[in-house]
Amino acid sequence: MMKSGGTILPRLDEGIRTLATDKQMWWEQPYRIVQTNLRLIDASLDPASLARQARDFGASAITFNVGGIYAFYPTELPLHARNPYITGDLTGEMLAAARREGLRMVGRFDLSKGTKLAYDAHPEWFVHNRAGEPQEYNGTYQACVNGGWAKDYALQILREGISRYDLDGAFFNMTGYQPVDYSGRNRGMCHCANCQSAFAGMFGRELPEREDFSDPAYADYILFKRRTSQAAAQNIYDTVKQLRPSTGIMGNGKGACDFMRLEIQRAVSRPAPEWPHQPGELARWGAAIGRGRAYSCASTNFLDYQWRYASETSHNHMLRFGQQIANGAQIDYYLLGLFDQPNREPLEPVHRFMEWHKANGEHLTGTRSAARVALYHSRTADLHAGATASGKTRNQCFRGAYRLLLEARIPFDFVSDEQMEDADIAEQLARYDVIVLPNTACMSDAEAAAFDAYVAAGGTVIATGETGLYDDRGNRRGEFALASFPAGAPREAIAGLETYFAIGEAELDFPETRLAHLDGWYFPAAAKPGAEAMLSLMPVQQYGPPELCFPQDLASAGPGVLTRAHGEGRVVWLPWLPEWLYFRDGLAEHRDLLAQLIKRATRAPIKLEGAGAIEVTVRDKGDCRMVHLVNYAGQRGSAYEEPPAIAGLRLGVRDVSGTGKALVSGAEIASGSVDAEGYCWIDVPPVKYFEVLVLPRAKA
Ligand SMILES: [Zn+2]
Repeated sequence: MMKSGGTILPRLDEGIRTLATDKQMWWEQPYRIVQTNLRLIDASLDPASLARQARDFGASAITFNVGGIYAFYPTELPLHARNPYITGDLTGEMLAAARREGLRMVGRFDLSKGTKLAYDAHPEWFVHNRAGEPQEYNGTYQACVNGGWAKDYALQILREGISRYDLDGAFFNMTGYQPVDYSGRNRGMCHCANCQSAFAGMFGRELPEREDFSDPAYADYILFKRRTSQAAAQNIYDTVKQLRPSTGIMGNGKGACDFMRLEIQRAVSRPAPEWPHQPGELARWGAAIGRGRAYSCASTNFLDYQWRYASETSHNHMLRFGQQIANGAQIDYYLLGLFDQPNREPLEPVHRFMEWHKANGEHLTGTRSAARVALYHSRTADLHAGATASGKTRNQCFRGAYRLLLEARIPFDFVSDEQMEDADIAEQLARYDVIVLPNTACMSDAEAAAFDAYVAAGGTVIATGETGLYDDRGNRRGEFALASFPAGAPREAIAGLETYFAIGEAELDFPETRLAHLDGWYFPAAAKPGAEAMLSLMPVQQYGPPELCFPQDLASAGPGVLTRAHGEGRVVWLPWLPEWLYFRDGLAEHRDLLAQLIKRATRAPIKLEGAGAIEVTVRDKGDCRMVHLVNYAGQRGSAYEEPPAIAGLRLGVRDVSGTGKALVSGAEIASGSVDAEGYCWIDVPPVKYFEVLVLPRAKA
């Protein structure tokens, strides 16, 4: 259900006084959670002292263990292992201490695993791979989504915890299918009797042997996992709500919830280059799928699972927080253990950030993005990429498009494929002048119909590569899914081209560039009548020895851009992957090509001038327009260090007038002259980690 993003919410941070009022809605007010992931040995902690530390740290809520694998209270359920170090009721004492300090408490449950106690009693409740081996890890056993632990016993644990403790929220760790263990080993998908019978009941066939598209049952298995995970999340949600409706359910974006907790974490095994945009990416996704729900992206203090006490730098946390608030997220900071970290470097800077957020929360929450451009995020296309010709490029296409929009300083949101069957999808899409579909190969008929309607009503779709060439199960279509597409009769993709596109004199705005290079894919198809072509694909040229490196054949082998009107709008298709090339090579012509095509179809809410690696977003709330600027200059590869402040930026903002303020520097912001296009120009104070300019909106 859509909730208004612009509601003026009651003031937060009233501490204990707000606990009695408006309790169900606390997560819709600004919050700053500190998540303590307790170890068994933390049983001896002093709750009063921890609550005071969290409060002094600037937190408004604390996440604290309740139960699941181990109970941190005296559970009466025989298969629910008690933390052996517990002498009293740690959870209950902590809840009382949190209350005294005016903190909310989110109870942490890990229902994804049980101990040997439960496994020995009911091995059939737990994951067993094809070889019949349980997924054991340090004496814990992964529970099967379709087994008796997940479907019944975990809910008994939950009932016990929720009925005993008046928790403000509940967080559930690692729910769903998790074949990869903490060591990063894939232990194999579950082949237990419950999975076999549930899968046979749903699809009338046997489980796939492998989790890839070479197995004909794999597409069904993707759907199976999704349906059963959603049903499990719904069970958890209903169980809590029946007992205590005021407890807010934190979701992970994959099932029923009141608000969302996503997580930012490095995994050292991820392929280079380092991707510094994970916080903004998650926050944008949270905004898209949340449909008005609050969301936060817990910033994990540690580097990776294997090194729980190797801390990320404070500079990394600040870059993460800057991206998150720029994209409407709340704050969550995740410690393994307590505040006595062996590396204290991040703690004081994060504390200062928390205090700043506390003072400025009203401008950071309940806002609504003013972006006019959206990047299409498709979990379906991600999951089924392995079934498509260019699927190996999928992730880099998406990230290339992400970087390209950000580095072209075009404010953008996500639209998610999970929104596309909403009853009000036309209204949701109508907020955007342009939607970019980066090689979004797999798409349902319903998604395609929603895009066609969006284009017919005046929107512009800019698509690349194989967009719409497959259905939502990865089966290749005979035609592109969008009826509004400027091309038809797709032919077989050409891989491994090493050539160029020639840019015509009058084509776009490239006064100094005549060629844009192409490495890799080209997707030939027939232009529909009325389609306008730009850029010419050059036949492959000789490139060695140098004496022979000159063009010998200038005939066009196909267009680089096809554009066609459809109703009031248009579809622009690039039958190649410039965003993938931008991700890899970072040359300006690929970025500028797409940026120019976008700018033809929209008038951005801002323009930013001046050198520097800056992300810019625009958010509105009531009479204010907030412009967020995030400085990436502290990141070099995998290192996140103190950034130099970026000075000399000039910002043009539409629809503002009068005097505003900068929330970080404290400077007063005088709005300057308004140009012919209606942009009011402002001198931006130097931006250290990030800055938020609050500007009065012009009266209509
Ligand atoms: Zn199973």
